[in-house]
Amino acid sequence: MNIRNVLSSVMALFVFLSCNQAQEGDSGESTAMTEDRVFLSLEGDTLDYVEKSTETWQEELSPMAFRVLRQAGTERAFTGELLENKKKGVYTCAGCGLALFTSTSKFKSGTGWPSFFEPIRADHVWEKTDNSLGMTRTEVLCARCGGHQGHVFKDGPAPTGLRYCINSASLGFVAVNPKKLAVFEEQ
Ligand code: FE
Repeated sequence: MNIRNVLSSVMALFVFLSCNQAQEGDSGESTAMTEDRVFLSLEGDTLDYVEKSTETWQEELSPMAFRVLRQAGTERAFTGELLENKKKGVYTCAGCGLALFTSTSKFKSGTGWPSFFEPIRADHVWEKTDNSLGMTRTEVLCARCGGHQGHVFKDGPAPTGLRYCINSASLGFVAVNPKKLAVFEEQ
């Protein structure tokens, strides 16, 4: 690990701990709009909305990522690069980098798409009713850029009973030291 990565990790941990203390001392009046918005990912990002033109997204994303994230497309089952990924770490939005899921909540669903039983934080995803294709489903989107990620169903494993069925093309992955990941997930 070079010095830049070390500094980055220390900074992320500092933001992480600082905000956790702020939350503990909070009266409960401040909610997701204040402290909760500060410590969000391993890079100390915020949930400030990322808005770009369709043209910009198209330039920045791969054709498949653009199709999924910005046009609510679905990759073919069993084709995603991250489907069989078993490394410890954080799954991020391929559009804006927001941390969305961790390897701890990933499970083998057999559906052909990366599946998770919970997001890294509830406020990192938007869930909205999707009545397309003649059925009613719950769409999952990135809370920061509005990018389509997939859908969530109520047939997942314990402890949540939920199955976040997510396109690999709309995700990125950052490997994280398992010990650091455990600390991150305790919050
Ligand atoms: Fe995003």
